[in-house]
Amino acid sequence: MADIRKIGMTPQDIGNGFPADALFGTGTSLTFADIIAQPRYNDCDQYSVTCELVPGLTLPLPVISAPMDTVTEWRTAVEIALGGGFGVIHTNLDIATSVEQVERVKRSQMGIVTDPICRRSTDRVTEVDAVKKKHGFSTLLITLDGKPGSHLLGLVAERHSALAEPEETLGNVMIRAEDLVTAQADNIRSWSDAKEFLRRHPMASKVPIVCSEGTVVGMFTDTDVVKMKKSPHAVVDPSSGQLLVGAAVSTHEQDRERIEALLEAGVDLLLIDSAQGSTKYAVEQIRFIRRCNGDIPIVAGNVVTPAQAAPLLKAGANILRVGMGIGSICTTQTVTGVGRGQLSAIYHVAKWVRESEFEATIIADGGIASSGDMFSALACGASAVMLGGYLAGHDETPAEVVPHNGFRYKRYRGMGSPAALVAGGQARYGASSGVLVHQGVEGLVPASGLMAPALTELLAQLTKSMEYVACDSLADLHARLWDGTLRFELRSHGAQREGDVHNLIRI
Ligand code: 5GP
Repeated sequence: MADIRKIGMTPQDIGNGFPADALFGTGTSLTFADIIAQPRYNDCDQYSVTCELVPGLTLPLPVISAPMDTVTEWRTAVEIALGGGFGVIHTNLDIATSVEQVERVKRSQMGIVTDPICRRSTDRVTEVDAVKKKHGFSTLLITLDGKPGSHLLGLVAERHSALAEPEETLGNVMIRAEDLVTAQADNIRSWSDAKEFLRRHPMASKVPIVCSEGTVVGMFTDTDVVKMKKSPHAVVDPSSGQLLVGAAVSTHEQDRERIEALLEAGVDLLLIDSAQGSTKYAVEQIRFIRRCNGDIPIVAGNVVTPAQAAPLLKAGANILRVGMGIGSICTTQTVTGVGRGQLSAIYHVAKWVRESEFEATIIADGGIASSGDMFSALACGASAVMLGGYLAGHDETPAEVVPHNGFRYKRYRGMGSPAALVAGGQARYGASSGVLVHQGVEGLVPASGLMAPALTELLAQLTKSMEYVACDSLADLHARLWDGTLRFELRSHGAQREGDVHNLIRI
């Protein structure tokens, strides 16, 4: 423990706990179980945990799902964005599938669709089922040459095809263009315009957007308005109304094609996925992305020290992913003897960023088992948390359900586990010696149902933490972290035990 006189504390003040500097300046790796924040006199009446990852990318729930092949594909990304967080699609996919995953998120809640699925009037009704299987929805626009940008002939929805014979043509069952409500492109420039249009045309449901010559340039639907109303925290692009989503890429030069394809598909953030992310390869990849797109948010890492972070920010990254060897499925620290206690890593990197010439935010990645851990990460300088195991049991993850001893579990594996490496994870855990080094394991987590109610509860839990420390926003929390008015204490083993449920049989 630092000398309290050196950190400007009086002996009387010790009763209120210690500023973070006093705890983290001792050369000991500290993590979630070691530290507890102290409550404060409260004169606030409103609390928010909204985080601004970068200007223009704001998350009401500062939670990001990990780019892991048992955690984040499009279903997880959709649910988490609807709940106010953000999903990052994993890299164990070929390029076309990565792009398809991003497109599926964008199309799941379409807002204004700028390239609606179109077919020719001569195509068969069976196309409706085929599109539904591939994209998850069934409304097709019928145009002269079966593509957007061509003359609108009509519209087919699932109920029209359900009443038809499979060999019938779409032209036979479609609602003809002249019987449809259509919107003129000049009048629909944003999602607000689309909502206003639907207000003025209460009977309209699926509305093609056409330009003056009658060619299709987009579409919007009333179902998306209803969906958005049910998800007040949804993280959407304000101009299109579509959900935001990120994707992971590797540091490998071969992944440049993936980067270009993802940018082309409209991905909203790129994450360079590397277990020790401070390398010349990562720097080169950041520079490449910046040359392709000056504005896209880039998450670089993983790092645990300021010295690792500096070259990444210098190259153009604007978000740091912090954590090494602390994930629930990680064996990195055991296998390599390298890493850092997670709260120490977050605190030291965040403190350095704050004092540096760079503007960057921090994602605390890994090791989080409770909302209390999430709050500790935020209170020590993170702007958001990344979750793997915490989300892995939910229905929406791309992992198999496994019955075990009468209970339902879901498979969860590290991207450095033998099975994930075989499936493509080498990019993150590259084999410099030519021999693959396993740095993760595979296991089971309890199946935990739908994600939406869990995210709602999480937001309430984090808000409660903010109430207890009397901070009305993340900016306020961080200001108090750095000026020392937010206080902490180390926890003895006894205190850790006491802070958990004890002396009863849980039912
Ligand atoms: P969790 O939330 O389960 O504690 O940790 C998830 C994080 O662990 C991921 O975001 C990633 O940073 C890290 N991770 C994923 N797979 C592996 C692995 O196989 N080995 C190691 N060392 N870390 C992993």
